Amino acid sequence: AAIDDSLLIVDHARKEFGGVIAVNDVSFDVGTREIVALIGPNGAGKSTTFNLITGMLSLSAGTISVSGKVFKSAKPQDITKLGVSRTFQHVKLVADMTVLENVAIGAHLRGHAGAIKSLLRLDRSDEARLLAEAMRQIERVGLADQAHMLAGNLSLGQQRIVEIARALCADPALLLLDEPAAGLRHMEKQQLASLLRSLRDGGMSVLLVEHDMGFVMGLADRVVVLDFGTRIAEGRPDAIKANPDVIRAYLGG
Ligand code: ADP
Ligand code: MG
Repeated sequence: AAIDDSLLIVDHARKEFGGVIAVNDVSFDVGTREIVALIGPNGAGKSTTFNLITGMLSLSAGTISVSGKVFKSAKPQDITKLGVSRTFQHVKLVADMTVLENVAIGAHLRGHAGAIKSLLRLDRSDEARLLAEAMRQIERVGLADQAHMLAGNLSLGQQRIVEIARALCADPALLLLDEPAAGLRHMEKQQLASLLRSLRDGGMSVLLVEHDMGFVMGLADRVVVLDFGTRIAEGRPDAIKANPDVIRAYLGG
């Protein structure tokens, strides 16, 4: 994507933990209405890159910009306000609450520091507003029929989609997904891919970390490959699949 059109620009990002360089001079961007996949072997720096973008970690060097706002370190709440929303590698739903309740609470906790306290202070009209917004997102991801089911009774694929509904409540311009296809059955992966395509076609950008190469290559508009903290390749899926450096570092094994 052209830089002018970029929602996210990671510019010479570096992160050290003591002596370990987890992310070493990494640059890439995510354009509007684009799905970008971040791939690479274990320990390549993918999660650290995610955590730099979401403000969970601060950069040792370099900058990140979201919608034109440049920063070296920012609070997660500020990043959320700039339109970035994420899901986590492991599902974090409350099994014995309904889908609707899970999405509503997730929506409420997002961007609130004193989360539990502020939840107790909700009045009736706040609660109604929250539930209405949650229901809107549940419909958007195609789970309206499951809204009143207990989250724990859903398939893993449906639970992942509930997490996406939760992330959508913040009205993000950029959605970050950490291994969304992990453990899903073939059919569930297809459903997830089609949801992500429809979000993109509706104007959203998506950055995902994913190990499932069939899923990545069928979905991503562009792929960024990390190895030992360094960006070793970037391009369209077909070019990445044929790239000798990528095959050597990651796809060959
Ligand atoms: P990936 O997500 O690609 O598997 P990570 O970003 O988790 O890779 O890790 C990259 C490197 O940074 C690894 O060598 C890892 O051990 C190291 N690392 C990650 N987080 C920390 C931390 N909090 N403290 C020390 N080292 C870390
Ligand atoms: Mg990781």
